[in-house]
Amino acid sequence: MRVLLPVALSTAAALALAALALAWSVRQSDEFSIQRQQRMTERSIRAVLGELAKQQEMVAVWNDTVRQLNQHPLDEKWIHANIGGWLHLTFDQDRTYILNPQDQPVDVVIDGTRVSLDAFEEVRTSFQELIRGLRNDAGQTRQNSSSHFAPGAYLKSGRALHDTRLLKLLGRPAAVSAMKIVPEDDDLIQVPGSEFLLVSVRFLDGNFLTHLAEQNLIERLRFSLTNEPGENEVGVPLRSDEGKHIGYFIWKPELPGTTILRTFGPSIIAVCALLICVMALLARSLRRSMSKLRKAVMELRASEAQAHHLAFHDVLTGLPNRAMFDERLDHTLAGAGPQDKLAILMLDLDRFKHVNDTLGHQAGDCVVREFGQRLSLLLRGSDTIARLGGDEFAVVLAGIGEREDVERICARILDAVHKPFEISGKQAFVGVSIGVALAPEAGLERVDLMRKADIALYQAKSEGRNSYRIFTAVMDEAVKVRSTIEEELRAALVTGSDLRLFYQPQVDVDGQSIIGLEALVRWHHPTRGMIAPHQFIPIAEETGLISPLGEWVLRQACVASKRWPDLTIAVNLSPIQFRTGDLARQLIDIVHEAGADPRRIEFEITESLLLGDSDLSHSALKTLRQEGFKIALDDFGTGYSSLSYLRRFEVDKIKIDRSFIQHLGQQDESMAIVTAIVTLCRAMGLTVTAEGVETEDQKLFLSQTGCSEMQGFLFSGALPEDQIGDLLTSLKRRLTSQDDADLASFSQGIRQAALA
Ligand code: C2E
Ligand code: CA
Ligand code: CA
Repeated sequence: MRVLLPVALSTAAALALAALALAWSVRQSDEFSIQRQQRMTERSIRAVLGELAKQQEMVAVWNDTVRQLNQHPLDEKWIHANIGGWLHLTFDQDRTYILNPQDQPVDVVIDGTRVSLDAFEEVRTSFQELIRGLRNDAGQTRQNSSSHFAPGAYLKSGRALHDTRLLKLLGRPAAVSAMKIVPEDDDLIQVPGSEFLLVSVRFLDGNFLTHLAEQNLIERLRFSLTNEPGENEVGVPLRSDEGKHIGYFIWKPELPGTTILRTFGPSIIAVCALLICVMALLARSLRRSMSKLRKAVMELRASEAQAHHLAFHDVLTGLPNRAMFDERLDHTLAGAGPQDKLAILMLDLDRFKHVNDTLGHQAGDCVVREFGQRLSLLLRGSDTIARLGGDEFAVVLAGIGEREDVERICARILDAVHKPFEISGKQAFVGVSIGVALAPEAGLERVDLMRKADIALYQAKSEGRNSYRIFTAVMDEAVKVRSTIEEELRAALVTGSDLRLFYQPQVDVDGQSIIGLEALVRWHHPTRGMIAPHQFIPIAEETGLISPLGEWVLRQACVASKRWPDLTIAVNLSPIQFRTGDLARQLIDIVHEAGADPRRIEFEITESLLLGDSDLSHSALKTLRQEGFKIALDDFGTGYSSLSYLRRFEVDKIKIDRSFIQHLGQQDESMAIVTAIVTLCRAMGLTVTAEGVETEDQKLFLSQTGCSEMQGFLFSGALPEDQIGDLLTSLKRRLTSQDDADLASFSQGIRQAALA
C-alpha cells in the first residue's frame, strides 16, 4: 500500500493535468478559429459596402447618365438597362433607387424589376439621414472614418461623392450606399446641389449570406434578429453605423480543437483506459507479490522458529539437545548464588548396543524415546533433561538440598529403568549408569562440571554398571593417571623396550608334562615399576592401542613358538581387536612372516565377543580355525555362559574361570558347575582347561572330574622366556633322574623347577 498509493496518485494527477492541458488547447484553438471566422465575416460585410460604391461609380460618374436623367421625358428603358437593371444583373444588387434633386424617386428597381415609384416611401425614413448627410456635404468624397465599414479607399474617381451605411431595412440587415450622380469630366457642367442620387441596397441576409458561407466555408451561416444560436453555434451582433442594433450573424463555427478531440478522443480515451488497466494490473500483481512476499516472510519466520527449535532440540525425544543443555546450564550457573546447590547428572544406558544389535535400530530408538519419557515423569519441570546423543542423557537438578536428595533421585532413575521396555510385542532390558557432579563442591564452571560428571559415569560403568557414582577428587586423580598411562603406553609401543612377554605353563595332568604356555604381557615402567595387565589392557582397549599391542604380543609369541615347537603358545585376543575389519588376515600374515606353525598357536577369546553375535567375529574365527589355529574360550562361566555358543562357534577348548576353581571344596555349587562343564565338554569333544589351580585338592578334584588340562600357581605363575627354558630343562632332568613314584606330585615338580 505504501508503494501503491503514490503510484496511483501520481498517475491520476498526470492524467488530470494532461486532460486539463488538452481541454485548454482545444478551447484555445476553437476560440481562435471562431475569432478568425468572425473577422472574415466582418471583412466580407465591409467589402460589400466598398463594392457597392465601386459598382455605383461605374454608372453614377458618367456624362451619359447625367444627360439621360436631365432630359424629359426620361428614357426609362435606357435607365433600366444601364443603371437599376444592369446593377442587379451584373452585381446582384437587391435594390436601386434614383432620386431627383428634390429627393423624389425617379426610378425604383427591386430584384431587377422596375416597380412603382411609391415603393420608395417604405424606405424613405430609413435613408433619410444618409441622404441628408450626403446633400449637406460640400462636394467631396466623404471619408467615413467613424464607420466601422469605411469603404472610401475603393473609389478611384475623385469626383464620386457617396456615403455608405449598415442599416436595418424592412427588418433585414442591409448595406446601403448612396452616391451623387455626376459627370465624368468637365465637358458637362453640373450645378452643385442639383445632383441626382443613386441609392443601392444589398441585403446582408438571403443569397448574400449563402454566397459568403460558400466562399468562406462557413457552416449554417444565417441572420437572426435575436441572439438565439443553436447547439454548437455562435452569434455575433451586427450594429448600424449609428450604433443601433440590427441583429445577429449566427453560424456553426469551425472548431479544429473539438474536431481533433473528436477524432483522437476515442483513441486518447482508449490509451488512458489502457494506461489505467495497466496500472490496475500492475497494482494487482504488486499487491499479489506483496502478499506473497508477506507470506514468504511469515513462512521464513515460521521455518526460522522451526529451525531454531531443531537447532536446540533432539528430534527423536523432543528433549533439549546438547546446545540447549549447555546454554541452560550456563544460565543456571550464572544465576546461582554461593549457597545454591545443583547437580549435573550424566546418564548412559547399559546394554543399549545389545538392544540395537538384536532387536534393530528402531527398537533402539523406541528405548531411547521411552527412557526420555520416564525421566521426564520422574523429574520436576524446573529440571533440565537433555539428550546429548546416542544413549547419552544429561540432567541438571537445580535448587537441591542435601546430597541424599540427589542419591534418592538417582536410585529412582535406576528403578524406573528396571521395568522392561515393550517394543512391538518384545521386551528389552536395559540398565543405566549415572555419573553425578555436584556444584559448587566440584566446581562452578560448566565444562569442568560436565567433565567431572563424565568421570563419575565412567566410574559407575567400570564398576559394574547399573549404578550411580558421585564425583570425588580421587576419581579425577585416577583419570589423570589413566591419561598419563595412555600416553606412556603409546610411547612404549613405539620402542617395545619396556614391554615383556611372560609365559605361564599349561600342564597335561594325564601326560604329566607341560603341553602349552599362555603368553601374558608385562610392562616394566621405568618409574612406576611393573604395571599389571588389568591396569593398562582396558586403557589400551579404550584408546585403540590394543591392536598394535596385540600384534606385538603375537610376534613375540611366534618367536617363542619356534623355540619350543612341541608346545602350544596361547595368545589372548581382546574383543576390541575383532572390530578392525581384517583381523584374521593380519594375524595370519604375522604368523607367516615369523615362520611359525599356526597349529602351535591358540587364540584365547572371551564370551563377550560371542555375545555380540557379529558376522565379523564369526567369520574371523572361522578363517583362523581353517588356517589351523586353535580357539579357546577364556574365563568361561563369568559371562552369559550359554553353551549354545560352543556349538555355533566351534571352539576347540574351554577355560573354566578361576573363580569356580577357587571355591572348589568350599562351595557345592562350584563343584556342581565345574563337573557339569567338564562332563558337557567331554561329551562335545572339547578340551577343558582349569584356570587358577592353586591347591593340590583343587588339582585332585579336577583330575577326578576328568579335566584334561590345568593352569595355575600350583604349577607355575607367568615367567619370563629364559626362565621357561630353564624350567623345561630342569623338569626334564628331574623326570629322567627320579622314579615316577618318588615324584610326590607333578605340580610339586614344576613348582620346584620354577623356584630353582
Ligand atoms: P587371563 O587371560 O585370565 O590370564 C590369566 C591371569 O590369571 C594372569 O594374570 C595370570 O597371572 C593369573 N593367574 C594364573 N594362575 C593363577 C592362579 O593360580 N591364581 C591367581 N590368582 N591368578 C592366576 P595377568 O597376567 O595379570 O593377566 C591378567 C589378564 O590380562 C589376563 O587374564 C588377560 O585377560 C589379560 N592379558 C594379559 N596379557 C594379555 C595380552 O597379551 N593380550 C590381551 N588381550 N590380554 C592380556
Ligand atoms: Ca587368558
Ligand atoms: Ca582366563
